[in-house]
Amino acid sequence: MGPVRLALLLAAAAVLLGPGGGAEGLYIPYNTSAGVVKGKLNVHVVPHTHDDVGWLKTVDQYYVGSNNSIQGACVQNVLDSLVPALLKDENRKFIYVEQAFFQRWWRQQNDIIKDTIKGLLSSGRLELINGGMCMHDEATVHYIDMIDQTTLGHRFIKEEFGLIPRIGWQIDPFGHSAVQAYLLGAEVGFDAFYFFRIDYQDRDTRKGTKELEVIWRGSKTFGSSADIFAGIFPKNYEPPPGEFYFEVDDDSPVVQDDPLLFDYNVEQRVNDFVAAAVAQANITRTNHIMFTMGTDFKYQYAESWFRQMDKLIHYVNKDGRVNALYSTPSIYTDAKFASNEAWPLKTNDFFPYADKPNAYWTGYFTSRPALKQYVRMMSGYYLAARQLEFFKGRSKSGLTTDSLGDALALAQHHDAVTGTEKQHVANDYAKRLSIGYKKAEELVSTSLACLSESGSKSRCSSPKTNFGQCPLLNITYCPHSELNFSPGKSLVVLVYNSLGWKREDVLRIPVMSDSIVVHDSEGREIESQLLPIANTSLYTRDKHVKAYLGASSAAKPKFWLAFPASVPPLGFNTYFVSSEKKSASVSSPSSLYSQGSENSNLQIGQGRLKLQYDAAVALSLYSDSKTQVQANFEQKYKYYIGQDGNGSDPQASGAYIFRPNGTVPINTDSQVHPTILRGPILDEVHRQINSWIYQITRVYKGKDYVETEFIIGPIPIDDGNGKELSTEIITNMATNRTFYTDSSGRDFIKRVRDYRSEWKIEVNQPIAGNYYPVNLGIYVEDGSKELSVLVDRSVGGSSIKDGQIELMLHRRLLHDDGRGVAEALNETVCSIDQCEGLVIEGKYYLKIDPQGEGARWRRTFGQEIYSPLLLAFSEQDGGNWVNSHVPSFSAMDPTYSLPENVALLTLQELEDGSVLLRLAHLYEAGEHKDLSALASVDLKRVFPDKKISKIVETSLSANQERAAMEKKRLKWKVEGPPPGENVVRGGPVDPSKLVVNLGPMEIRTFIISFDHGFTQHLI
Ligand SMILES: [Zn+2]
Repeated sequence: MGPVRLALLLAAAAVLLGPGGGAEGLYIPYNTSAGVVKGKLNVHVVPHTHDDVGWLKTVDQYYVGSNNSIQGACVQNVLDSLVPALLKDENRKFIYVEQAFFQRWWRQQNDIIKDTIKGLLSSGRLELINGGMCMHDEATVHYIDMIDQTTLGHRFIKEEFGLIPRIGWQIDPFGHSAVQAYLLGAEVGFDAFYFFRIDYQDRDTRKGTKELEVIWRGSKTFGSSADIFAGIFPKNYEPPPGEFYFEVDDDSPVVQDDPLLFDYNVEQRVNDFVAAAVAQANITRTNHIMFTMGTDFKYQYAESWFRQMDKLIHYVNKDGRVNALYSTPSIYTDAKFASNEAWPLKTNDFFPYADKPNAYWTGYFTSRPALKQYVRMMSGYYLAARQLEFFKGRSKSGLTTDSLGDALALAQHHDAVTGTEKQHVANDYAKRLSIGYKKAEELVSTSLACLSESGSKSRCSSPKTNFGQCPLLNITYCPHSELNFSPGKSLVVLVYNSLGWKREDVLRIPVMSDSIVVHDSEGREIESQLLPIANTSLYTRDKHVKAYLGASSAAKPKFWLAFPASVPPLGFNTYFVSSEKKSASVSSPSSLYSQGSENSNLQIGQGRLKLQYDAAVALSLYSDSKTQVQANFEQKYKYYIGQDGNGSDPQASGAYIFRPNGTVPINTDSQVHPTILRGPILDEVHRQINSWIYQITRVYKGKDYVETEFIIGPIPIDDGNGKELSTEIITNMATNRTFYTDSSGRDFIKRVRDYRSEWKIEVNQPIAGNYYPVNLGIYVEDGSKELSVLVDRSVGGSSIKDGQIELMLHRRLLHDDGRGVAEALNETVCSIDQCEGLVIEGKYYLKIDPQGEGARWRRTFGQEIYSPLLLAFSEQDGGNWVNSHVPSFSAMDPTYSLPENVALLTLQELEDGSVLLRLAHLYEAGEHKDLSALASVDLKRVFPDKKISKIVETSLSANQERAAMEKKRLKWKVEGPPPGENVVRGGPVDPSKLVVNLGPMEIRTFIISFDHGFTQHLI
């Protein structure tokens, strides 16, 4: 730079700075005090960091800053450096989101720092928003897990700081669910909800119409009462275009305002800022825009950002074209609200998400199906374990469910259960779940022993009975039941039901003996059936026991023992299994057939439901003698070849993205005959579909649905192709491109193939672009019948053709899809000497109902899938069990049961001795002619032995009183005529009657104190 140009620049700077502006190169007091200025374009500068609680590194590695060769990221640096940076200027502000990190940091701070943080929080300079332990995913998470992980974070914030987060900040999840908007948004008391990942075509449309900021009405049932302001960022959650990244190693030009140094650039940087602001204002309503100043793991040296933002705010406001201010999403939201604008309405959800024409993020709906199943299994277990923890009395020092709760909370992160993390991080989530499970398992066993020894819910700590459990039943491994019964000894099976209804189900446990008798708790022999265990199951068992337990069991079980169990609500029943040679009442062996030995068409089903197969065992006729429904359906497998990224568009199919490159039907090997097992309790059809898919179809005598168990893998890759395996159910139903999938396991949303209800879609990916997340189920209807399929974990699903439903069950891919994880989704399992592709085991369930009747099964049975019966095993010598134990128990009044349309979501003793109770109505308005009605729960009969001294209804996350929340929440204006609505909610609970009413879809949360209780509750 020559002297002439330097002189010119100095002159320009002097004009801009004016007197006292530091032209002498000395200390400059930057004026950062601007607030909102009326009549000007207000640029809300929102400093933030996005800290994934695990992705490329584990949550702990991110926290302490280890494993930096993968990613230079240390959350401790962020929080440590934040404190002095915020103290330096009282106008600086920051938001922090992920409580899992914040809590790790908080417990390590001294009292001085803690007091400082409390001061920063109370003055609003630091704000905790979103407030869950993680920023949960919205496609592959179950709403109960969303509630639990949010509650954990929100209650900590309330207990420690007395604060209530008021803004949802889901800036990174890959698409957004209706349940997030209305349930985890409005119902936790949030005033607004910010995010950015919506379909690129939708975004382009919204930019043109200035509809990136909307009122999202996510619930058909609640209508406007659960509206929330939703702000979609125009591009991403990073600083605006124009180079405003200020991490120490970023290369955006810093604001150089010292005239004694080279490269003075104040005017240029001010112009950049104003240009970015004007561009964003052009697509935004009102004169408020937000600059999200930060991104993943930024602010590791917070001063490097704040120094630049101080200068930008100072010089931009001196320039005067726009008004820049340090802000937070709360301040921004209040400014939007104060504008008194009516906003466009958004209904339904934001799935699926695509960021480019060939990049639909619909692969992760299925990625890592074993982890997804583990998370779901642990979620149901956590619900049951907390009930048993409450019955036993929460231990102050010993075993609790807390560790499982923490592990589950982390697992809901948008790079955890989604399957979009690196393999070592997926292992870390699983390890945490396993550790949490172990503690909860011991607690559950102790509690069940207490309850069965005493029959009362009084506090108990050291029972004599030992119970064991079998979390590996899915791989046919249950050491507690695989016994050689010596004379006089028997296996005690205690069956716990965490649902609020009585439950009839069929239990299956592996056994060694072929001569077995089962007695119920009153000593009666009950019908049972032995089914030979498939070789595929035994192989899977062997492999995984070796790989994960380092053991190989010499003796293998030979049979599944199946017997019906009947269990009271919130209670248990006990069954006794023993070996009795040549007794008349031993369990029936299943009769075995192979297809070749049966002449006529094959039919299974001993009860009302029958499946009749054609000669090729492909097409079956489904007939239900009770409902008179008859329908043909064919069930097949196929795989999509994962795009390898070598074509003109290098987008590969990977952990996030599903991009098929051809469909390959899987023809069942006609050389291998199916095996048919029949017996008094259930019939099974076993089929080896090909060398890597085994399938068992079951019809139970007492049940009216078809259960299909699949064992899939290792998916072969020796042809060099990644594969994405789907099963499909094909009928001739005329479904008019329409199907329904659940939103985070709760509401059902109508989907129309190749169509979006609120914007016009150009179809580039006719398969991947029609995939939706399925957590509970998917169904189609044709005016006379409904075909429903329910799932045991989160999967991707669609109806690619009329009359058809498909579920993607497994995927194994060889290329990375370029969204940062930098690993191919090629899961392998290694035992001592070899590694193989992951094998998964799972189930889905199918039912065909008359039109209008399907909801009942989807809701009731859906709850049973989520909360399977919990089995605990012990042994008795002789017949003395009943002398020392109560054989059956219900925590509720023995004549009481929750209504069919209400589920108990949470029953948990909190640390302060109060009890968290959550009840959920299971039906949407109009979903079922009888069951969508107002429901009542009589708490006196739910807690017959306890006296409720106080009951307070709270927000969904139990951090504030419900009434106060409703009063405080902003009521936004919506464009268009007001909706004609008739929203039914339960109304206040009369503390003398203690009856809770619930309207359709209502989830009500209460903090209850019992008479023996303690004082000083949080709410
Ligand atoms: Zn993220």
